[in-house]
This record gives sequence, C-alpha cells and structure tokens, in this order.
Amino acid sequence: MSSRRELFLEEMGLTPLWRPKGREAGAQTGEEQLAVSVAAVPAGVAKPAAARPGTAVDDRAGRIARMDWAELKAAVAACAACGLRKTCTQTVFGVGDEHADWLLVGEAPGAEEDARGEPFVGQAGKLLDGMLAGIDLKRGENVYIANVLKCRPPGNRNPEHAEVGQCSPFLARQVELIRPKLILAMGRFACQTLLATDASIASLRGRPHRYRGVPLIVTYHPAYLLRNLPDKAKAWEDLCFARRTMAELHSEPHART
Ligand code: URA
Repeated sequence: MSSRRELFLEEMGLTPLWRPKGREAGAQTGEEQLAVSVAAVPAGVAKPAAARPGTAVDDRAGRIARMDWAELKAAVAACAACGLRKTCTQTVFGVGDEHADWLLVGEAPGAEEDARGEPFVGQAGKLLDGMLAGIDLKRGENVYIANVLKCRPPGNRNPEHAEVGQCSPFLARQVELIRPKLILAMGRFACQTLLATDASIASLRGRPHRYRGVPLIVTYHPAYLLRNLPDKAKAWEDLCFARRTMAELHSEPHART
C-alpha cells in the first residue's frame, strides 16, 4: 500500500480494518459490499440540454450546450448571470483531465478556491486528495474536479436556487465534453442538483444513479467529513463502491477506450 493511501486510511480511522485485500479479477473485498451492477441502473436522459425556443434562459442554456472547451471557459469567466460574480474574486471553472473517466462534483468555491481559481485547494481539498489516493487516484490524472457553482457565495453561504439554475448549464456542458464514465457527487448540493431531487444524501447513498446517462454515485462532502468524523467510514464505503462500479464499467463490452 502506498504511503499516501496509508495516510488517508489512518486519517479516516480505517486502519487496519479496511486494509484492502487482493485485487485479483472478480475478487470482492469486504469494503466493497455495497457494490451493485450499474447495468441494472435505468439510463436517464442522455441528450444535451436542448434549447426550448421562446425564453432567454432556454436560449442561454442551448447556447452553452453547443460550446467547445475554449468557448465554455470564456463564457464562465465572463458570466454575470447572477450576483455572485460581483462579490467573488474570480470564477473557478474546474481542473483536471478533460478526458477523465472520473468526474468529481462539489458545491461551490470557498475562500481559498476563490483566491487561487482552482476547486478544492483548501482543507476540504486536502482531504479530497487523500480520499482520491485511497482509491489510487490523483487529482488531474484521469480525474476532473468541478463545482455546481463557479463563483464563491459570500461568506460560504449556501447556494441559492436561482444561482444554481443559472450555473447548472455550465456543469452540464462540462459533463458532455468530458464524457466521464462515472460521476462522484459530493455533498447535498451536488447530489440534489445533478439528480434533481430533494432527497437526503443518506437516502441516496449505496446505490448507483444516473445523470444524463452517466452513472453517478453519491457521497458526503469532504468539508462535512472534516466536521463529522464518524461519517468518514461511510464515505470510504462510497469510494470503494465507486471504484468497484468503475471496474465493472471498464469490463463492459462497449466500454470507452
Ligand atoms: N467546497 C466545494 O464544494 N468546492 C470547492 O471547490 C471547495 C470547497
């Protein structure tokens, strides 16, 4: 086990209980008992957000849905669709491999992210990097990290419904351009926004969902885990579930290469 991984498991209070077993084909570890075949998940609407003619909002979403990476980055940087751009330092677009299999989605930039222009670079980000190491992943390597909101809400207040509505088309387009194999939605806002539900994380965990056809797994937000240590064990279950789901996706006959 790599030392980063060991550090993560220690940090999560999961050693030696969660020491991974052999990774031979077909082996299911105790940590992965929640795994369910994603083939059983009904596919959602896999179409891009179509523009319904008639309203400015829908025209905007339609325009965003046709953007390439450069256009999308420029549009986010120039966006003034809600009031947040007036109070934040800069927009935080997202970071990582633009062809990643893994897409991690959080809520919104915090103070450090706002200052540095990159998602998850504060305390929660450190935990997230450790969580990634725990499943042998690394920021930027086959992993893309984005938020629902691209601008920091003042004082880290919760995102407002209208802000999420204005910003969601950007995330939707990021998903379409990346074409990830799996989305890990972290925290209530990411989960509820992507799944268009009011359901709690507790009720959504442990089973696969889909966002526009892409398998989606729900877990707690790293910032929440920093304050709620007992739930770290549940987050570790979610990560192992996600890793097993990804392995299943890779073994599907039409897996993307
Ligand atoms: N919390 C988030 O949801 N996103 C970040 O980028 C940082 C903290």
